[in-house]
Amino acid sequence: MPTPPWVRLKGCVILTAMSMELTFLGTGTSVGIPMIGCHCPVCSSANPRNIRRRTSLYVKTEKVALVIDTPPDFRQQMLRNPISTLDAVLFTHKHADHVHGLDDVRVYSDAQGPIDCYAAPETAAKLRMSFSYIFEAGNRIDGIPKLLLHEIDSPFQLFGRTIVPVPLMHGKERILGYRIGNFAYLTDCSGVPDESLDLLGGLEILVIDGLRFRPHPHPRPHPPPRRF
Ligand SMILES: [Zn+2]
Ligand SMILES: [Zn+2]
Repeated sequence: MPTPPWVRLKGCVILTAMSMELTFLGTGTSVGIPMIGCHCPVCSSANPRNIRRRTSLYVKTEKVALVIDTPPDFRQQMLRNPISTLDAVLFTHKHADHVHGLDDVRVYSDAQGPIDCYAAPETAAKLRMSFSYIFEAGNRIDGIPKLLLHEIDSPFQLFGRTIVPVPLMHGKERILGYRIGNFAYLTDCSGVPDESLDLLGGLEILVIDGLRFRPHPHPRPHPPPRRF
């Protein structure tokens, strides 16, 4: 039987394919699992598979090490694996559960110099607003991440690899997935526009989230937190 192109390490699935190593740092919901204050069977479970951190992926090739999104769990995710090299950050969209760990990129920029970050213009604008202390300082003061924020709307080169932004629908919002070689990562995806399908032909690995076919009502059908 052929060796599967994946291994498990400390609960994270690592895919090794196409001279690329993929570490799923988090695959949870926007509040993470277990949810604060929830005592449902899943949140109370001792099964480590029910510990689901906020969504993020680490991609390592022979030339570049990057992370897709910096969720609030970013520090713990990077410690847990552990990951000592980071060349770039790709952002899928502006939501808090995908960006609010950005400050901890400081450790990498202190060691390596400014880290290149890539985002769609709308996401970049929100990052500049939410992290004004980083971007208004212009990489000039200590104690903050040193970042170079690039706005993207088409394929670009990163350390000799072509990165293809793939527009997706996330509810009514347009966000980005990414294609790198024959691998694509589409998170928070509720729909793929026809024009994006052309960007996804011939994939070997497609990572796409799947919650349910029917739209879920708000608030979510999760037991409300009990009083502490
Ligand atoms: Zn729960
Ligand atoms: Zn989102």
